[in-house]
Amino acid sequence: MPYISHSEDGDRMPELPEAEVVARQIRAGLLGAQLTDVWIGRADIVREGYDTARWYCGGTLRSVERFGKSVALGFVNSHACRYVVAELGMTGLLLFQSTATKHPQHVHVKLSFEGGREPELRYWNPRRFGRLSLLDKAGLDRYRTRRFGLDPLAVSQQDFVRLLQERRGRLKALLMHQQVIAGIGNIYANEILFRAGLHPNLQVSQLSVRKIETLYTIMCKVLDEAIRHGGSSVRDFFAPDGSEGQYKRRHLVYGKEGRPCPNQCGGVIQRLRGERSSYFCPRCQAVRSKRHA
Ligand SMILES: [Zn+2]
Repeated sequence: MPYISHSEDGDRMPELPEAEVVARQIRAGLLGAQLTDVWIGRADIVREGYDTARWYCGGTLRSVERFGKSVALGFVNSHACRYVVAELGMTGLLLFQSTATKHPQHVHVKLSFEGGREPELRYWNPRRFGRLSLLDKAGLDRYRTRRFGLDPLAVSQQDFVRLLQERRGRLKALLMHQQVIAGIGNIYANEILFRAGLHPNLQVSQLSVRKIETLYTIMCKVLDEAIRHGGSSVRDFFAPDGSEGQYKRRHLVYGKEGRPCPNQCGGVIQRLRGERSSYFCPRCQAVRSKRHA
């Protein structure tokens, strides 16, 4: 049985691939199941909509969607529809009942189900402040609009090119700007930029259309591969069934400061410290490379 523990440091997990894995597991385990009971251990775990918790009892889980790094469970009850929206990461995980946690006192919400493969979904949150919202459709729309830009798995290449051409600033910061492109954090931004041969601090305005198109292709490929490998369990991400993502083994630069470049160019992976550290190869990702034509 896996044990879930919590660490205080490091980059926020999960990012888009891990949240997508969470959504897919819940969909497979609970879609169509009936919610029989909602237990909320502490009122302050719910950011919005605490008073509506009773409404959900007897409702059927009709949809499981991912928005950025959040997962929204859609319930139908008496022809009305409401959502349970969970932010994941160091501030919370959605876990099935069978997944043991090292600190069970941090399970603050339990959703009991009948008619699905899983009897219970738990919200485990060591930080104990609101990261769960109970919203109607209008509330969910507001939640999405306020927080999330385009989804990397849904945006077309054309729209991605247009988006980057409209923007200024440093490339990595833009990839991680949730209101512009939702779901990419520090781990995948570093991995995508290495594979694209682009320096993290490159000005977006310096990118040719061809470079942006290549970046788009690589972004989609990295995210797809990461989802297929269950995401990356770098510090404290676990899927609802307790499994760890295996994509970590395919990381080429993240956390690999001082190691030789995987492209065997003779360079050494550097770390640029900042609010979020950048890992890159100064040879393969030179700011003024001839390859940036
Ligand atoms: Zn290199």
